[in-house]
Amino acid sequence: MTVREVFFLIGEGGAVLHRDDGESASHIADSRARWEAIWENRDQLVELAHSHPAGPLAFSHEDETTMAALASALGKPLVFSVVTPGGMLRRQGGADERVESEPGWADDLRRASGLPPRP
Ligand SMILES: [Zn+2]
Repeated sequence: MTVREVFFLIGEGGAVLHRDDGESASHIADSRARWEAIWENRDQLVELAHSHPAGPLAFSHEDETTMAALASALGKPLVFSVVTPGGMLRRQGGADERVESEPGWADDLRRASGLPPRP
């Protein structure tokens, strides 16, 4: 299975509202379809998550730019997370926190990214 970066749009109850597959382990292109999915789901979206199949467990510079643009476009506080083979990092209210008790979709995101479940 190909390892690739994957994006999930998460709604109430951990439902995956939208999935977008990147073209490699370290890149997912900005896509109009993804922006439209985010906009269409803006009222029910709870969290925006993506994988870093090769790490690191941190938000990249590109992630920071995208998060700022989304927060500005949607005009409401958003929750973002990054999932790696061994962990999950969540940004909420401006603070980053390691998530020890992961939601069920974190392993779904790993599986979609070509990774095994968290050990
Ligand atoms: Zn990223």
